[in-house]
Amino acid sequence: MGAFDLVTNLTKEVLKSPRYLEALLVVVVFSATSVMLSYSVDHPVMLHLFYVPVVLTGFFRGAYRARLMSLLCILTATTVFLPSFNEAAAGGVPLGPVFAFMLWAATLVLIAVIVGTLSDGWRESIDKLRVAHEKDVLTDALTGVANRRAFEYELNRRLTEWNRDQTPFCLVLLDIDHFKKFNDRYGHQAGDAVLEAVAKVLKEAVRETDLVARHGGEEFGVVVSGASVEKVKNIAERARSLIESSRFPHRGLMLRVTVSLGVAQIQAGEDLTSLVQRADTALYCSKEAGRNCVHFHDGKTCLHFGEGMATDVMDPAKKTTSESFDVYTDETTGLPTQKVFLEEFRRRTLEAHRHSSELAVAIISIDGLLQEEDPDAQTQKNLLATIGRLSGSVLRETDLIARYDGNCLSVLLPATSLESALIPMQRLSSDSAKYSDFQYPSLSYSVSIGLVEVMTAEPPGSALQRVEAALAASIAAGGNSLYVHDGTACQLAGANDLVGEAV
Ligand code: GH3
Ligand code: MG
Ligand code: MG
Repeated sequence: MGAFDLVTNLTKEVLKSPRYLEALLVVVVFSATSVMLSYSVDHPVMLHLFYVPVVLTGFFRGAYRARLMSLLCILTATTVFLPSFNEAAAGGVPLGPVFAFMLWAATLVLIAVIVGTLSDGWRESIDKLRVAHEKDVLTDALTGVANRRAFEYELNRRLTEWNRDQTPFCLVLLDIDHFKKFNDRYGHQAGDAVLEAVAKVLKEAVRETDLVARHGGEEFGVVVSGASVEKVKNIAERARSLIESSRFPHRGLMLRVTVSLGVAQIQAGEDLTSLVQRADTALYCSKEAGRNCVHFHDGKTCLHFGEGMATDVMDPAKKTTSESFDVYTDETTGLPTQKVFLEEFRRRTLEAHRHSSELAVAIISIDGLLQEEDPDAQTQKNLLATIGRLSGSVLRETDLIARYDGNCLSVLLPATSLESALIPMQRLSSDSAKYSDFQYPSLSYSVSIGLVEVMTAEPPGSALQRVEAALAASIAAGGNSLYVHDGTACQLAGANDLVGEAV
């Protein structure tokens, strides 16, 4: 390599990294100093040359390094000029040149501080922007887990690792079951909330080092490295059962979903397309087997793993296999069932007693619909479902609305006194009164409500009896009214102007 190439390569390296620039500047400063020394400097104007390394260091390396460089320059300059001061000192201290020298030194330090500080601030902002940008580019906005791009990076990284030192890795693909029906039934917002919650549960089910990514609409991928296949199958099964047993609260509903999973481990000579395809085939096997289960692709065939079984919570057509669907979710309204309500009521009552907090409970009854013209009571079901949806805008996240039985809905309002509960219940009943059915435009019905606040140390059964008594009083008074039971008797609460005529 010729001298020219050497210089070119060195220049390229210097431009690539400011670290080299700094070393080069130190060399330049020392060389310049030795040149000045050997030619004995008569012109202090040469001192201004030292601004160059200080400004460059400040710009590329920040305030701290610039200050060090300025001190180095002052030190070397002193060694150059001190002898000439000494010579001049024979005729007395040369105040003029010494003062000029000190002024120059102070200016040099000031320049180092200003340029360095500006450069530090600028670099900090750039770093912040870069981190935020990297996060945006690699993160899924809705769920906060890695996105498809990060997922592909990770797979490529693990494949390189596998080819280099045979560290095996597995891919788990997960798809939420019947998510389209779920969206249709509960709305897109509830769907989004469930996607977020599933991502959270999934993160909890895997290790810190495993990458969880959302790589499609309702599909997630997990890349697990350095673990045995058995371990990964167990991780997948744990994620499945955790999601199956989780209840996701959303606008008074306790939502639940199941997921199907496919697992595959990288094999010798395999590429990513084939690995993803095998995991996908395993996932498809889980779907075919009835969903809510894990399948593993061993290279030839798919094998079922774990205790997952076909519960098919969102598929009413397969109701016979759907024990748990009937138990937790009311099919007509999509609201939690009476069983969920009673369990939650019992739990909340105990909690209220323990923390001396307030708890209100109400039952809403819809009466007087034209049953004979509507033998399936479809209108009544539609009305109940509508009220369930309306409750989303009236109730809080922590409140629970459920199908109580037949034509009744029940509402649980934790941390709410009787007085505060009157407001949302009044609103819910007046909103309910505005329902109209295109099939029965002259629909006539009444909305009756019973409301109580659980008293100190009162058992849940007693509170339920009181709320049912209040409801009976409301119905007996002709409906379209809100009655409360204060512990001794039933009373009409608020204005009785709830109109049950369809508009
Ligand atoms: P399967 O059990 O066979 O997977 O059925 P599925 O309904 O889950 O599958 P399909 O692929 O038919 O539908 C996926 C649905 O996921 C369609 C779309 O409405 C929903 N989805 C996709 N992305 C989002 C999203 O970001 N938010 C919400 N709420 N829904 C989404
Ligand atoms: Mg899908
Ligand atoms: Mg799906």
